[in-house]
Amino acid sequence: MLTNDQAVCIRAVDYSETSQIVTFFARNTGKLSLIAKGAKRNKNPFGGPIDIFSYGNIVFSDAGRDKLAPLTEFEPLEGDANSSVLAQDLYILHCCLFAVELIDLLTKEYDAHPGLFDCLITFLRDVSRKKVKVSDGCRGEVLALLILFQLRLLKEIGLSPVFDFCVNCNRAFNVHWNSAYFSVNAKGLICRDCQGAFPDKIQIKLQTVKGLADIKSLDSAEYNIKKEAEDLLINYIADILGRHPRMAKYILK
Ligand SMILES: [Zn+2]
Repeated sequence: MLTNDQAVCIRAVDYSETSQIVTFFARNTGKLSLIAKGAKRNKNPFGGPIDIFSYGNIVFSDAGRDKLAPLTEFEPLEGDANSSVLAQDLYILHCCLFAVELIDLLTKEYDAHPGLFDCLITFLRDVSRKKVKVSDGCRGEVLALLILFQLRLLKEIGLSPVFDFCVNCNRAFNVHWNSAYFSVNAKGLICRDCQGAFPDKIQIKLQTVKGLADIKSLDSAEYNIKKEAEDLLINYIADILGRHPRMAKYILK
């Protein structure tokens, strides 16, 4: 049976002289790897090799999920977010590679997340429009989009960290707290009164908590606040995975 879906390429590796194994994140199917036979031939059925971030309609043979199914059609859709646009700015490229790495690491095969798919498409499109160079101050704007993407990803997979109240005593957060802490083990915010019971906690700025609890306020926050928020999310995600994502080191340097 043939299946149609909308998909983004999140990984592509050469399989033979002429074929690729392409991992897609598809809107109604979730993550899946397909064999694109003939994708590297001069005359090929997909209009050229399929690159990471390629976005389009796919048709594939659902031959059984234990086998590598063939990709039968790939029709690119219009959009700004292609790899050549994203590669114009190295920081933007790294952020996009990080975003698709997280999708790859944190979602399961054939586990559909249409909301997360839409969020990834929006993220890739929005960052590809930030063509201002990093030195012109767009790094903070791109980082805010990346943080928003990660928060939505974590929500979608049911692993959202808590930022609007202390996870130990339920006290609601406000910016008039004396100090705030975050515990990876407790998966959320810890107030000053409770922090002694959490050896792994780190102190974080009140503005950082505010930005993570209310994402609309993050956009206007200073770059160091966004950086602290991203550092916290990377450590949180590394704890879930048991290791740091490969691209993480390029995001905060
Ligand atoms: Zn507390």
